[in-house]
Amino acid sequence: MTAMTKTFQINEDAAIPAVGFGTYLIPPDQTATAVRTASSVGYRHIDTAAVYDNEEAVGEGIRAGMSDEGLSRTDIFVTTKLWPGYAGWGEKPKSGTETIEECRASLARLGLEYVDLYLIHSPHGGSARIDQWRALIAIKKLGLARSIGVSNFNQSHLEELRDAGLPMPEANQIELHPWSQKTDLVAYMRANNIAPIAYSSLAPLSTWRTQEGQDSGKTTEMKADDKVFAKIAESYGVSEAQLLLRWGVQNGYAILPKSLNRERMRQNLDLAGFTISDEDLQKLSTMDRGDGIAWSTGDPTRAF
Ligand code: NDP
Repeated sequence: MTAMTKTFQINEDAAIPAVGFGTYLIPPDQTATAVRTASSVGYRHIDTAAVYDNEEAVGEGIRAGMSDEGLSRTDIFVTTKLWPGYAGWGEKPKSGTETIEECRASLARLGLEYVDLYLIHSPHGGSARIDQWRALIAIKKLGLARSIGVSNFNQSHLEELRDAGLPMPEANQIELHPWSQKTDLVAYMRANNIAPIAYSSLAPLSTWRTQEGQDSGKTTEMKADDKVFAKIAESYGVSEAQLLLRWGVQNGYAILPKSLNRERMRQNLDLAGFTISDEDLQKLSTMDRGDGIAWSTGDPTRAF
């Protein structure tokens, strides 16, 4: 195995591992073991969110992994996210004060004094977005998060923060893979020093979220399999998953593959032994199909 140990800077002081472990849709009773196993395989970034309802088990898995591997807190990068509240689903968007309370509640569930990255999970807070972002700036000053950012924000959401006279987020976690490349948004983020973090990198695979209820409404239409990934992957002697993940890292995106299978966890980290050629990158760049599929159901429990 040639593990990918690369990191990307997200600000002057902080670097994010290029490959992290995603924890969305892991059943609660399997989460601690999954995170511990990921740690034993070599993952040093764990991505969770208040709305995944698994922060306690993630914290448990992190502590077990640190103890198994003899790691200290600074060896591990932890991301969690504020659920902003969405009026469209009958929720009250979080105020600035509530945002800080929510961050403290996440830290208590995780059993941590700080997270490495705290994100606003989505722009659904509407008119509360700017106060929520101000609260994240305060959260960083309080030392509760080393870096702060957003997720699922488009260019106009980012410009709204800039127009309010606030510093830009340090990262934006968005769905990115060859079928959802968001070239304009990524270019805007690059121009504004906003680090791209890619989620659902494996969405084009036939094995992506196959369990009942995990799928999103748009998956089937996105899965017309023309074997392009399989053919390119074969030419490098890697799996389609490795090709998709390497595409993300080669584009400069930190990635967050989730798996409950130890061998897949290992494979998803084993990305340093090959390089996608410029010619194949060019071929993949023509495969964009638009906005993506992970965030598309309208069902709050299945929408991320
Ligand atoms: P991924 O792109 O990580 O794909 C996971 C799916 O692919 C699972 O069904 C998994 O099955 C399967 N899989 C994993 N590895 C392989 C492999 N090597 N070969 C074949 N199949 C494989 O999807 P996610 O949507 O979970 O995204 C990753 C993470 O990103 C999330 O867990 C979460 O942390 C974050 N995220 C953030 C969002 C946001 O709104 N900010 C939205 C969505 C995700 P199995 O487990 O059986 O191996």
